[in-house]
Amino acid sequence: MKSPCLILGAALLLVAAAPEDVHYDARREAMVKSQIAARGVTDPAVLRAMATVKRHLFVPEAYLADAYGDRPLPIGYGQTISQPYIVAYMTEIIRPRNEHRVLEIGAGSGYQAAILAEIVQKVCTIEIIPELGNAARERLRKLGCQNVEVRIADGYDGWPEQAPFDAIVVTAAAEHVPPPLLKQLKDGGRMIIPVGSPFLVQTLTLVEKKGGRITTNQLMPVRFVPFRRGP
Ligand code: SAH
Repeated sequence: MKSPCLILGAALLLVAAAPEDVHYDARREAMVKSQIAARGVTDPAVLRAMATVKRHLFVPEAYLADAYGDRPLPIGYGQTISQPYIVAYMTEIIRPRNEHRVLEIGAGSGYQAAILAEIVQKVCTIEIIPELGNAARERLRKLGCQNVEVRIADGYDGWPEQAPFDAIVVTAAAEHVPPPLLKQLKDGGRMIIPVGSPFLVQTLTLVEKKGGRITTNQLMPVRFVPFRRGP
């Protein structure tokens, strides 16, 4: 039998957690309005997802106070969770639909995957750092995100067993668009990827595949952590 102390402790925790949640809800609402909608993101599904997913559950405890701030935050191992606006922008630009299968390269905290999972049917996300990938998988499981699969691997090769994808979101800066990812993109599909030199400013690039032809569009300067290679 559980000790009454434990039960009382759990009850107190529940009571104590409630006002905090309200406080985070208000911050999240403000984030969507002032950082995301104000800068031109209009897709209602994207705004809804950004308003729903609790970003504070994806950042390290030391950064909780900044969880809804207008900037990227460290998530350990030299990696970062992207600025909320960039997550929303990248999600909107791929034109996500309910029936889509989406591949993400760079699971990191799992936040971008959770946002996508609110909108699309299936998200496959790859992370090269095992500790981050395992933590993201566990976090997403606890949050009940059943339509996300996390794989620990070098995302350069994509995920052939799950391909083709309606859209691909790359959240690490690559020096070129990995050919396996192009191959795994459906015809009519869209890929968003920061392209450029690691540690410098890169260009967020939209890659489209139409009738077998590839077109690219440079959208805006961004700064992402480098796309790594290797196991
Ligand atoms: N989408 C993440 C942002 C993570 S930052 C989020 O929402 O939190 C980019 C991530 O890409 C880092 O975790 C980094 O380890 C990972 N990464 C870098 N190169 C990679 C590669 N070749 N394959 C898979 N993941 C990679």
